[in-house]
Amino acid sequence: MSNKPVLQEKDCDYSILTHVNLGMRIKDVPSGWALNLFDIREFIPVLRYEKECYIRIRGIISPCRIVINPRLFYKGKPLKNHLRDLKSKDENFKVPIEIKFNKRELDASLDEFNSDNINYIDTDLLVGKSYSSKGWGLSKDVVSQLIPLKAYDFMFPVYIDNIPAETRLNMQTRLFYNSVELSKELEELSKRDSKQRVDARIIFNEEYLDLAKKFKEGYKSESKCTICGNSLDCDSKSDKCFDCLDKEITVLKLKKILEYFKPSETFNERDLLDLGYTKGQIIILINKLEKYDLISIDWDGSFQLVDETTITNFIKQWG
Ligand SMILES: [Zn+2]
Repeated sequence: MSNKPVLQEKDCDYSILTHVNLGMRIKDVPSGWALNLFDIREFIPVLRYEKECYIRIRGIISPCRIVINPRLFYKGKPLKNHLRDLKSKDENFKVPIEIKFNKRELDASLDEFNSDNINYIDTDLLVGKSYSSKGWGLSKDVVSQLIPLKAYDFMFPVYIDNIPAETRLNMQTRLFYNSVELSKELEELSKRDSKQRVDARIIFNEEYLDLAKKFKEGYKSESKCTICGNSLDCDSKSDKCFDCLDKEITVLKLKKILEYFKPSETFNERDLLDLGYTKGQIIILINKLEKYDLISIDWDGSFQLVDETTITNFIKQWG
């Protein structure tokens, strides 16, 4: 199934526990599972690698987010048979999975890997049905720039319902965009030839959005932002102004933080670090939320998202 090097149990110094279910299909049990991101945060700090960014395709800029869905696949028929037996007795049984790894070595390679300074990545994407799915799976070439794939390129020793197994990980990584204009453009392209690929630039550094201001005195562009109606900068390629794009990106960041903290709930930098955010990401996150009055910072440095109504309205207006 794989030529990956096998990580020996004796070389492991740490383990984490998670639970998975036995699957929807009546007769069969899964050969692998998507893992609970919170349970595995010390093993795969997904939040550190998921990003809100922009994508530019044929001059159209859209906010987007990169979503990682780590999946674990096991080897071996006996284990599969055991799971099938379990399922026949209790289909709702939550199967405990203990994943072993060498935390010291893993942490060292994760710390060594840094994608914070990537300004953009150029790639090409299949037009296909991306106008309706609103996204793509990213190629290994792109993913390896965003996630330290090498650190996970092992067969990991795992106990599935207390039965030892060799498992491999798959870091399914997808990019989702949020733009009606881009969706329309992709639909047009798809009608002509759905098998064609389009050049795409995934932009992480806002300075590379090509929304640079090159005003001549008194010059105003004819084109207007499709969201707020303000005149666009004269050399802008986008159909939205930076302010609107910035608010859309902030919505994506806000939605992610809302998965962990409710409005008015107190949290601090330590909580964010524990979830897997890096210090750099925390600074960007807090700055963006502060800019739009979505967060308050207490005297002791702790944070609170503002009241639920304000948060909901912001998401409704700009999401
Ligand atoms: Zn605007």
